[in-house]
Amino acid sequence: MITVTQVAGGLLGGNLSHAADCNVYLVQIGQSALLIDAGSGLDSSLLESNIIRTGVQPTLIEAVLLTHAHFDHSGGAAWFAGLGVPIIAPAVSAEAIETADEEFIGLPRARRLGLYPDHVRWKGSPVAMQVRDESCWRISDVRLSVLQTPGHSCDGVTYILETQDSVLAFTGDTVFANGRVLISTEADCSPSLLEGSLRKLAGLSLGSLYPGHGASVPQDAADHVKATLPFLDQTLLPPNLL
Ligand SMILES: [Zn+2]
Repeated sequence: MITVTQVAGGLLGGNLSHAADCNVYLVQIGQSALLIDAGSGLDSSLLESNIIRTGVQPTLIEAVLLTHAHFDHSGGAAWFAGLGVPIIAPAVSAEAIETADEEFIGLPRARRLGLYPDHVRWKGSPVAMQVRDESCWRISDVRLSVLQTPGHSCDGVTYILETQDSVLAFTGDTVFANGRVLISTEADCSPSLLEGSLRKLAGLSLGSLYPGHGASVPQDAADHVKATLPFLDQTLLPPNLL
């Protein structure tokens, strides 16, 4: 039995928490609880109360799984690490997350552009485990595997949870509902890498899609991912989420 509850989301995620937060999902598999992404960390107490409202104590979360290092996804990791929750992160960005390498995630530029207030700083967080393509493990009867899905960022990964009944994908900022994507002028954005990642995801029989922003897709998620293919087949990018 697997239950997914969105416990954070900013302007694009239902205003459940701080405006700068990505969507954060609490995944309960039997007695185990995982968190997908950590939010910005700009108001972790609000995220904490949203988690407690589900009946889960944040200190008992088994791990926080980061989809990529961008500030709105990983800024809160230090707060969870402070509670003793292990942080799992892409191998590509694990060192940057540990050393709070703000250049790696483009935070200085984002501050200059006014996307984040001047006082915002990235706090480093220890990474307990690095994941790469096809890392996988089991939790009860659920298989959890990792696909590297770069393009939106150089370090993007998708976490795939397979149950007897369905396949759930936590895609971070790789693909969103209705086949939207998020390509920007950030130096680590790569349309050609994104194409490879989208084609990889389109080859899976996805049931549910839980993206880093916007609405989730509880069923028939494969149709949403495959909506990117007509654009890619014309060497075009699918429409941006923003
Ligand atoms: Zn991102």
